[in-house]
Amino acid sequence: MRIGFIGLGAMGRHMAASLQRAGHEVQAHDLRRVEAFANWKASAAEAARGCELLFTSLPGPREVEALAEEIAGAIPAGAAWFDLSTNSPDTVRRLHGELPRISFLDAPVSGGPTGAQAGKLAIWVGGDERVFRKHLAVLKCIGDQPYYVGPIGAGTVAKLAHNCASFAVQAALAEVFTLGVKAGVEPLALFRALRQGASGRKRTFDRLAEHFLPGRYDPAAFSLRLAHKDVSLALELARQQGVPMRIGEIALSELGEAMGRGWGERDCRVAMTLQEERAGVSARVPPERLREVLDE
Ligand code: NAD
Repeated sequence: MRIGFIGLGAMGRHMAASLQRAGHEVQAHDLRRVEAFANWKASAAEAARGCELLFTSLPGPREVEALAEEIAGAIPAGAAWFDLSTNSPDTVRRLHGELPRISFLDAPVSGGPTGAQAGKLAIWVGGDERVFRKHLAVLKCIGDQPYYVGPIGAGTVAKLAHNCASFAVQAALAEVFTLGVKAGVEPLALFRALRQGASGRKRTFDRLAEHFLPGRYDPAAFSLRLAHKDVSLALELARQQGVPMRIGEIALSELGEAMGRGWGERDCRVAMTLQEERAGVSARVPPERLREVLDE
């Protein structure tokens, strides 16, 4: 297949190379010349011209929008454009509407440059499901986990939710490591200990299937009262050690607010419903549907 690929940075160069290795004719372009592409194009419009399928892996919304103006006339009618960049839902929806001659889909990826090189990437697709299905085999050349999330923008929403969670957890882990080490535990010993704990052994998002998504908080597996005690003790230790705990303080205030509702004997995950109340939305999934996903 003749494929245009624009944006050959840390992620794009590996994804485009995978397509080329799989035997596709890749018309490659980036502002900076990248070696290893037989069919290099001097402009984005040339890379888009004559292709059945176009991929972009650009820094963000501004670059993708500017590129769309540049190549709108060059992409053949009926072609599909999968934007692999982490973009904004507004931008991808606008482009989807403004490019009626072609199929525009958002397809942000997750896995980092090492995953891109090894072909181990999640690709979260939003847009026309038939177009996704038609090009599934090509998407699988780029990443082992292509998944149709929903209408245009849905892939991007999933990507932003994922990365926001990653960086909130990253900030929390920086806190607890500074706390543990300053309180006298050797960093490698702390690492070994933590990865064997309840949170350490489970994939982060899988735990949502136990309480939050099915909305199951009674009887308690781990009571809110005990969770509140544990975080209080951790913050007391942090105060003694002179370690600031901004994320820990937020976690304690969530648990404290839930205690104030009289939920002390319910499962500690019930505190997550406070956020559902504030956001005015609920995230329930029937347990049997969750089981199916975990068994896949
Ligand atoms: P990068 O900065 O390494 O690559 C972006 C490339 O786009 C650069 O090579 C740049 O020269 C090129 N570019 C910019 N404007 C262009 C234009 N108008 N025409 C042609 N080329 C242009 O970024 P990256 O790390 O490869 O990330 C690409 C996208 O993937 C971003 O949206 C990022 O958020 C997302 N992402 C990155 C990672 C990661 O770990 N690096 C993981 C998942 C998703």
